[in-house]
Amino acid sequence: LDASGENFTPQDQEVEKALRPLSFDDFAGQSHVLENLQVFVKAANLRGEALDHTLFHGPPGLGKTTLAHILANELETGIKITSGPVIDKPGDLAGLLTNLEPRDVLFIDEIHRLSSVVEEYLYSAMEDFKIDIMIESGPNARSVEINLNPFTLVGATTRSGLLTAPMRARFGISSRLEYYSTELLSDIILRSASILGVSITSEAAIEIAGRSRGTPRIANALLRRVRDFAQIKGNGKIDMEISKYSLKALNVDAFGLDDMDNKILLTIIDKFKGGPVGLTTLATAVSENAETIEEVYEPFLIQKGFINRTPRGREVTESAYKHLGRLRESNQGG
Ligand code: ATP
Repeated sequence: LDASGENFTPQDQEVEKALRPLSFDDFAGQSHVLENLQVFVKAANLRGEALDHTLFHGPPGLGKTTLAHILANELETGIKITSGPVIDKPGDLAGLLTNLEPRDVLFIDEIHRLSSVVEEYLYSAMEDFKIDIMIESGPNARSVEINLNPFTLVGATTRSGLLTAPMRARFGISSRLEYYSTELLSDIILRSASILGVSITSEAAIEIAGRSRGTPRIANALLRRVRDFAQIKGNGKIDMEISKYSLKALNVDAFGLDDMDNKILLTIIDKFKGGPVGLTTLATAVSENAETIEEVYEPFLIQKGFINRTPRGREVTESAYKHLGRLRESNQGG
């Protein structure tokens, strides 16, 4: 599993859909975000208006897509789903926009990957619910302005830093999703287990939760794999013993760190004597791009207390050395 937990088979994707919460009440955690959204949705419903455009940002697998669906459910509207890289040209976007019913949700995943022409085309749609479309072709070609139904654009991005300022400014609501605590993830696992019809002890749920990198998608993915082990190597029930056995067989790190997390820590330790090292230098050393490190990997490592951000760059902590079983070189004569 990588940081998104997203190495799925089609069957896994079906199961993931089945496990997706459908209402505010089913959605665990992110209480600050949720409380605000509930107010905004209620108000929009009372006034019969479209909800303000809403941006969700944060690391992968924390529930951005889930929340977009929940918003549509709670607004009792339809939802159309697309993603930044799929919309090739303004015409594609015009097709989507003109098919929206009043108050519908248009969900654009990876919104930071829209091309700049498409992005600019979106501005007037977001602001005035109007777009220009070209009719006819050749010498008769002309552009006409058409009115759209008021709609809510829900954008999701793992890389808010890559969103342009004008785009960002057009979202009335902007929420950052945070990593989940082990307790919340264990609640999510218990709920998923009951949907999947598999019995699980609460201590097993906590064990799996603690290794899920703070991410519900990873928690659900691990639960499904442990369920396989329980069925084939155990008695079908998930207890502590089979969980530990499976997690070991799956090579899951005690903290849920994935290969890139470990690579980042080991690189800072081995190549940069524990740091501090600048972000771009680090990015080159691990062959990953700097924004991805900053927005996808680093937040979790900082939250776990494995990395510190200092004015001179990134530094690994004592716990990182311990976790990786390395000894810190003394600085004497360094
Ligand atoms: P990405 O940005 O990678 O698309 P995402 O943030 O959109 O990820 P989702 O697809 O919404 O993540 O969530 C992944 C899975 O995790 C969902 O199938 C859902 O079942 C589960 N999930 C996410 N958040 C929660 C939550 N708060 N409570 C219960 N389950 C959740």
